[in-house]
Amino acid sequence: MYIEDIFNLAVLSDKYDVLSLVQFAYPMKPWNANQEHRGAWALSRPSSSSLLKRSDPRWLYVAYAFGHEADFVEQANYLARSVSIDAEGQLMTESGQVIEEGWLPDDLLERIFEVRHETITALLAKVGALLENPPVCQHEEPSCRTSLIGSFTAELRGVLLVRSNFTLVTPDDIDMSVERLARHLRSIRVLNSSGHNECKRRFHIVETHEIVAARRSPVTHAHLTHIRHQASRYNA
Ligand SMILES: [Zn+2]
Repeated sequence: MYIEDIFNLAVLSDKYDVLSLVQFAYPMKPWNANQEHRGAWALSRPSSSSLLKRSDPRWLYVAYAFGHEADFVEQANYLARSVSIDAEGQLMTESGQVIEEGWLPDDLLERIFEVRHETITALLAKVGALLENPPVCQHEEPSCRTSLIGSFTAELRGVLLVRSNFTLVTPDDIDMSVERLARHLRSIRVLNSSGHNECKRRFHIVETHEIVAARRSPVTHAHLTHIRHQASRYNA
């Protein structure tokens, strides 16, 4: 049983509520099926980040249709922070798989776009604040601050967050995932001529984990209502 087949059954069962289809799909439910099928589901389960990376996004629809709330929420949140945007403006998973229209339930794709954009906006705001109002040297040495600003800008250019005219990119310019952007920002290490470590540290962007963790979930109340309804029908 391949994800294509399970996905198609999930879509049909979910949309048309055909009892015979549901009964047909029941033995294929990976969490109560035979060992082979459970293996397929286990590969998709968001139990570790490496498993999540290999997971096909269509498992989200399967979880949605069969009322698997915890898996649905975890995978949706994972996608919101790990998807990037390809040259055609489509969302792409970490493994390079383009998420096609209809693969995710209802408005989840739009919600992932929104949450991604909001989180990138919040991350870039931290950079913008440092560029607009750079910290002054603790020992009032102007050359320390000047070298820190130069080094910080060079680091940002290195990861394409600053344009050739030294302005910060906008959230719409960012194609990379939230996670990759956060990693870039955490990795920035500035240099100064004075050797003042305490001055350097004021240019470190350390709040990225908090910003990523504080983002809204792409899962809506309507999604949860649907999943709980499905769970009460199939898993009772
Ligand atoms: Zn200093």
